[in-house]
Amino acid sequence: VPNYDKIKTILEDYSIRGIGKSIEIFFHSKKVGERTLPIGLEELHPAAVYFLAGTRYKVKKLGYPENMTAKLEYLPKDYPYYTKALTEEWPTVETIFEKRQANGIEVTSCKLHIQKRVYGYVNLEIGQEVAQGQKVILERPLDYDFITKGIVFKAPRPLQEIGRSENEEYVEASGYHATEHVVIEGSNMITGGVSQDLGGISLDTSGLIFVYDSAIGGNGASKALYDRLEKAFERSLDIVRECPCQSEAGCPRCTFSYRCGNNNEYLHKIAAREILQRIFDGEKTEVTEPVEGDKPLV
Ligand SMILES: [Zn+2]
Ligand SMILES: [Zn+2]
Repeated sequence: VPNYDKIKTILEDYSIRGIGKSIEIFFHSKKVGERTLPIGLEELHPAAVYFLAGTRYKVKKLGYPENMTAKLEYLPKDYPYYTKALTEEWPTVETIFEKRQANGIEVTSCKLHIQKRVYGYVNLEIGQEVAQGQKVILERPLDYDFITKGIVFKAPRPLQEIGRSENEEYVEASGYHATEHVVIEGSNMITGGVSQDLGGISLDTSGLIFVYDSAIGGNGASKALYDRLEKAFERSLDIVRECPCQSEAGCPRCTFSYRCGNNNEYLHKIAAREILQRIFDGEKTEVTEPVEGDKPLV
């Protein structure tokens, strides 16, 4: 049963609706561009490195939510970093459109309410393959929420890897998070190149994985994945099975994602391989209600 008091509190904390809004971009007092929400907040937070017409600028000041403007300043040409936002996201299922089985996995296609917070960023070196960097936390987090379409399924538990580990919760949550990444990135060929239009959330140790259209209102990207989920699971298993990296977390060729809002932390390749193998072998799961207090990994 949903906890409506709790939901109401969260909604009051997140009163900024991203729909139809945009941030105007200024360089010296001249307007040089405009970026819509929600992506605008990930690209234009204070101190973000922003690309405009082949030049990199730094965001000197963001007026949000008060005046919806970002002020840019020049960066030296040899400045070695770009930035990636750190985010937290909370999904709520609003309406279920349809359900089906992919192998033994129940998957639902639904309308989702996503509450998102940009709470910091990382500096990443240009040309560096590993998408991890030093974290900086924003003085004031940037919050917004929006409605979109997406899919939900529950990954089977990686019981072998859990049993083998001292830190069971870490292994389990990191296995689901890695699975979420690989299913999104690995499905690109199968869905006709929609991965860049998808966002993902894996909820702690619940096994619940949400994949949604990052365009407000939905643009059909997650529906393409819904229709071809068996193929996407199979391709994902191949990716983690065939990648020769020896790292427990995986690497930029298997489990890492440039879209990750968690600095590519909490990833476990071996647990993801077990999860995807269990899906391939036909293990059955059903979608359950999210549990309050579960930590979302994106
Ligand atoms: Zn790898
Ligand atoms: Zn991630």
